[in-house]
This record gives sequence, structure tokens and C-alpha cells, in this order.
Amino acid sequence: MLNQEVLQKFASIVGKERLKTSKEDLLTYAYDAYVKEYIPDAVLFPKSTEEVSRLMKVASAHQIPVTPRGAGSGLGAGSLAKRGGIVLCFTMMNQILEINTANRYAIVEPGVVISEFQKEVEKLNLFYPPDPGSATVATMGGSVSMNAGGLRGVKYGVTRDYLMGLEIVLPSGEVMNAGSITAKDVTGYDLTRLICGSEGTLALVTKIIVRLLPKPKARRTLQAIYDRIDDAGNTVAKIIEAGIIPATLELMDKMIIKALEDFAHLGLPLDAEAVLLIDVDGDLEAVEKQAKMVAEFCKSQGARDVRVSQSEKDNEQLWMARRSAFGAVARMRPTCVIEDATVPVSYLTPAIKKVMEISERNRVQIAVLAHAGDGNLHPLVLCDQRDKEEMERVEKAMDEIVDYAMSVGGTLSGEHGIGIAKAKYLPRQLSAAALEMMRAIKKTFDPQGILNPGSFLEHGA
Ligand SMILES: Cc1cc2nc3c(=O)[nH]c(=O)nc-3n(C[C@H](O)[C@H](O)[C@H](O)COP(=O)(O)OP(=O)(O)OC[C@H]3O[C@@H](n4cnc5c(N)ncnc54)[C@H](O)[C@@H]3O)c2cc1C
Repeated sequence: MLNQEVLQKFASIVGKERLKTSKEDLLTYAYDAYVKEYIPDAVLFPKSTEEVSRLMKVASAHQIPVTPRGAGSGLGAGSLAKRGGIVLCFTMMNQILEINTANRYAIVEPGVVISEFQKEVEKLNLFYPPDPGSATVATMGGSVSMNAGGLRGVKYGVTRDYLMGLEIVLPSGEVMNAGSITAKDVTGYDLTRLICGSEGTLALVTKIIVRLLPKPKARRTLQAIYDRIDDAGNTVAKIIEAGIIPATLELMDKMIIKALEDFAHLGLPLDAEAVLLIDVDGDLEAVEKQAKMVAEFCKSQGARDVRVSQSEKDNEQLWMARRSAFGAVARMRPTCVIEDATVPVSYLTPAIKKVMEISERNRVQIAVLAHAGDGNLHPLVLCDQRDKEEMERVEKAMDEIVDYAMSVGGTLSGEHGIGIAKAKYLPRQLSAAALEMMRAIKKTFDPQGILNPGSFLEHGA
């Protein structure tokens, strides 16, 4: 395994500075945003594709488990060394290699932070829509591997929708390209999209080509306050049914409102049951018209107050509130587990009611946040993982939420992926044949099983 000889070989590739083995360093990379700890044997920081390739050749010759890692903001232990071995951390491969305005694409290294990339393209009047709540820390490589969604998913879709091509390093160390810089490409199987969402189990992503859009000329944010959460949920379903496509459509329940107020004092009403935050964007005239329509819609569905922001600064303040939600709520108890089951949007209100009922019956504290426009619930389960009895109730509540989502044609995960957090639920959604097909694909890429071992695919295998 990872003896001195192998460590020497790794050090000869990245140098001693970029090879960490001290207990303190290893502990830093033993966590992501899930609740488990897995301490790796070493952490390495490659700076080029060539280094990644050479490292993988050594790892595969010695059958060392390798776990890729971006910022470690994943919610399912995907970036943790579940079977020991090395963590390959991509944060030092963080260059924007090209922003091509004529053909509207960009090429980036995997360690580029999403929001920094967005700022750079926006300077050129271009737009990269995928916008996870973690965009200020999460990396492009992590978001490709997780097919991250985010706040703008309702109108703009997810990471996969913007992916044109990849450079990857296979577990054997071979470098391979998939996709291209052309707007259309149907040459063979779409390996680019297969890698996207594979949770670091098939290959290491070393370059990413993404499609860019023209930057929307205008944007307005609306904040609608509700006395009844049902009315907020129904507003969402009605807006979508009416064919209005906001750029974002987020719901926060009263526990989130209170946590945000305690945390950031934003002036949100503490007696409200729910807040909807809605963005519309596009050409100025269309935006003004849509903002008015959405405001009327909210009022007609029972909103007691609707505010329309008047400036980009106002927009940012309102979104700051939403982006602080996880952090604000997580302060309330020692452990916060984030659920991610997703339902067809017309089931949003019943799903929220169901989560509330499950919370009460199991005596488990659950705050409800949702990328509501695409039915993506984020129930935040507040607990203390040291309390065994409480954790059993949490487990039961999560189980019931998953069962409910399945019963209405929903999915286990809208965007956070499976990781180890949801592996046991896979057979509830995927047939044995589908799981077998996925395992066969994994074996083709990684016959020795050294890349991200202990991942979701191994459950029940
Ligand atoms: C507060 C908070 C809010 C969030 N909001 C959202 C949201 O709105 N939408 C959403 O989709 N997610 C969200 N997430 C989850 C998470 O931030 C995203 O999945 C993000 O894309 C992960 O990026 P990362 O750089 O942190 O990846 P990591 O957590 O480091 O890794 C994620 C996975 O990608 C693999 N990986 C990383 N880099 C590479 C690479 N170069 N090659 C191959 N595999 C690689 C890892 O092995 C792991 O399996 C949120 C998380 C938090 C904590």
C-alpha cells in the first residue's frame, strides 16, 4: 500500500511541498459537508494534467485508492478517502485557460472556483448560469463531477447543460479527451455527459470546456411574504403552470426565516410562515413586465406583502439572505443533515406538508428550504449525531421523505448526488439492470477499482 517507496515516487512528481502526510494536514481533508470522517494516508496537489497522469500511473501500479477532491463542499462524502489511500486535491489547478467571446465558450482547469469564473465571464458580458448555493467555494471540477444544479436551475438548467467537452485522466494514467469546442457534436457516445455527475468514480477531470450565454441585460428580485406555507407552495406551482419561467424561485420556511434573522438581521418578518425569493431576468422591458406579472400572481395566491427590488444592490441583499440560509440554520444544532429529494413541481405543496408531518410525527426538527421552481426540496434536518436515539428517528424521517418522493414519481437526489449518504436508497429508484449497467461502466473505466472506492456503486454489490 502506501509505503515509503510509493510516497517517494509521489514526491518525485509533485515535490514534498505538495504532498501532505502530517496528522493535522490529513485531518483537514478528512471531511466534506457530510457528517462522516475518513482520514486519508496522504493528500497531493497536482498542478498539471501531466502530473495527474504520472500520479495515476504510480497509483495504479501499486493499487492505491485515489479520491479526487475540489473544495470539499459535497454533501455525501464523495471527496473523502473512504478506503484510505490518497486524496488528489485539484485546488492548485485553478487557471481560466481561455474565454472565447467569438464562439462563446471557456476552457478552465478543475480547481477554478465557480463564482470567480462567473465574475470573469461577466466582465465580458457573458454568463455562466450554473449557480449552486456553494458557488463561492465550490470548484468547477467538483460541480462537473456532481452535475451541480443550483438557484438558477429552474430557467437555466444544470451544469451538464453547459458542458461541451472534457480532458480527463483515466485511472490507468492515460489522458483522454471527450467532446469539443463546437456548438454541436454527435461524434460517438457522449462521454462528456457520462463523466458529468459520475461523482469522481470514473475519471479525473483535468480540463473543462463550457458553453457561455450572453449576459442578461436586466434582473429584478421579488420577495413575497406568506402567512400560510401552502399559499407559497401553490404560488410556485401556478407560476410554472402559467408558463412564466423565473430565473430563480426559492422557498424558505419560518424556521429558516428565524435562523436568518438571528444570524444576519435582514428585517425578514418573524411571524411569516414562508418567503418566496424570485428572480426574473432578460431584456429590461420584458423584465419589468414579468416582475409585475409575478408580483400580481403572488398577491392573488395569498402573499401578504410583495417587494420588488429597485437596484442590483437590493437584489444582492436579498440573495445574500438566501445564500446564508444553510449557515444560519446549521448554527442551531450540532449536526445539520441536508436532504435533497425532488418531486414534480405540481407536488411541491403536498411534499412540503408531508415533510412537516414527518418532522412532527418523528419528533425531528426539520427546516424547509427549496429550489422550489424545479421541485427540489432541501429539508435541513437538525440533530446531534452523538445522540443515538435521536439519530434513529432522523434516519426514519429521511427514509419516509425518500419514500414519499418515490411515491409521486420524484427522485432520490435533485442535485447533491448519492455519495454514501443515499447509497442504500438506490434500489428504490434504479432497477437491478440499471445498477448492473452502471457497475459495468465503472469497470470499463476503472478495472482495478482504485478510483473513489467505497462510492455509491458499491452499495449492495
Ligand atoms: C452550503 C452548501 C450549499 C450547496 N448548494 C448546492 C446547490 O445549490 N446545488 C448543488 O448542486 N449542490 C450544492 N451543494 C453541494 C456542493 O457544493 C456541490 O456538489 C459542488 O459542486 C461540489 O464542488 P466541490 O468543489 O466542493 O467538490 P468536492 O466536494 O470536493 O467533490 C465532489 C465530488 O466530485 C469529485 N471531484 C472533485 N473534483 C474532481 C475532479 N477534478 N475530477 C473528478 N472528480 C472530482 C469528488 O471525488 C467528489 O465525489 C451545496 C453544498 C453546501 C455545503
